[in-house]
Amino acid sequence: MKVLFVTSEANPFVKTGGLGDVMGALPQSLQNLGVDARVVLPKHKNIKADYVNKLEFVKWFMVPVGWRSQYCGIFKYEYKSVTYYFIDNEYYFNRDGLYGYDDDAERFAFFDRAVLCFLKEIDWKPDIINCNDWQTGMIPVLHKLEYSKDPFYAYIKTAFSIHNLLFKGIFSADILPNYFGYDYMPMANGSVELHGGASFMKGALNYSDVITTVSNSYAEEIKTPQYGEGLDGLLREKSFKLKGIVNGIDYEEFNPEEDNFIFKKYNYEDLNGKAQNKILLQKELGLPQKENTPMIGLVSRLTNQKGCDLIISIIDRLLQNDIQVVILGTGDYLYEETFKNLQYRYPDKISANIKFDNGLAHKIYAASDMFLMPSLFEPCGLGQLIALRYGSIPIVRETGGLKDTICPYNEYNKVGNGFGFKNYNANELMSITEYALDLYKNKEHWKGIVRQAMESNNSWEKSAQEYNKLYEELLASC
Ligand code: ADP
Repeated sequence: MKVLFVTSEANPFVKTGGLGDVMGALPQSLQNLGVDARVVLPKHKNIKADYVNKLEFVKWFMVPVGWRSQYCGIFKYEYKSVTYYFIDNEYYFNRDGLYGYDDDAERFAFFDRAVLCFLKEIDWKPDIINCNDWQTGMIPVLHKLEYSKDPFYAYIKTAFSIHNLLFKGIFSADILPNYFGYDYMPMANGSVELHGGASFMKGALNYSDVITTVSNSYAEEIKTPQYGEGLDGLLREKSFKLKGIVNGIDYEEFNPEEDNFIFKKYNYEDLNGKAQNKILLQKELGLPQKENTPMIGLVSRLTNQKGCDLIISIIDRLLQNDIQVVILGTGDYLYEETFKNLQYRYPDKISANIKFDNGLAHKIYAASDMFLMPSLFEPCGLGQLIALRYGSIPIVRETGGLKDTICPYNEYNKVGNGFGFKNYNANELMSITEYALDLYKNKEHWKGIVRQAMESNNSWEKSAQEYNKLYEELLASC
């Protein structure tokens, strides 16, 4: 079975969040099951220097984008036995940052058509194209409306994976003629129309053969108005082809026993190394070096999805305790400035690092005792899975993948790998955090929670099997 993953980012080449992590790990886990999985992504300017010089040029050809004809180069690179292809066009992708440009519709219209065209240019043809998030959403549309009429493409199946329904890729309806060479029929018949514009995401939901999302709870939640982003009705209608498969994490990349980013390696049988990581990170960040002061970590996009409002509304109260809070993230200006200001007000208690820094992220996972993820919604969430692996106990809101992966600790039977609260409410976050801080004082108790966290199995193995099964069913259905 041959599967092509189409994505806008993939670790270790370029990553802004969880999608990058998934695309760096899932294909390899599928390879281990005998699937020939490959990945294609744009050749962004931000691709790490270690890799960019090693990419092998394959060939070039031209791609139509509406009335334009644009250069498209193909590069490739083999990483951990998976072939990654890179779509090159400097006009579209030689830019700082990955998303958020005024011409994103044109950039990803080019990318989506280029992916379909490139299949005819290389010596390999997938049985299934698995698209990911809105940037790749027009591939199922192009496939069904145009390419499937060509026998070369006719038997290829399309899967679409939702990593975050919030980002729907909605643009003016004029993108249809301007960048795809279509008339307005997909607007008129409603198949891409959303809030008066044309949505890549909606097109994908309508035209793909199967839809996946990254946890079971999120698969249920997005069928409700509260989480459905205006697409809940469509998702209820499409529930026959919607499946939740929880993400895993790359157990080689995130491994406290082997991690070269952290100060001291450790495992759950010997947690002294973890304590040293805390002391050394405190030193690096200019916080007082205190082994017994609980450190709470936050590594996240700083947006309202991630619960920044809740954190900000309790932080003054929370800091009355003997704690340290280490923040790493970028995002909305308001949150960035508020966290910087908090560091100014509480220099001994808060370290606010407003940047994207993979090495520091690893250090925080290793050093912190608790990890905050009070998300408003969370399709899967990888932060809490990485935190578990490093024995940093997640404090989460029970939504989406957070609900599916964190078992709230029960002090009576001593079972659980984290702490959870139900409603998006600051008082609930405050009381669960204080409860965790209280339990932290009992060292033996806490060690037990840390062990259970580190023993939780969130590797890709099981989820890759579910993808494999889904693909087999998809191919059998033709
Ligand atoms: P998202 O919704 O952003 O995809 P996830 O929890 O699924 O959230 O994944 C976030 C990933 O990005 C994790 O690997 C996390 O460690 C990483 N990450 C987030 N912000 C930063 C940052 N500022 N620096 C380094 N890594 C970060």
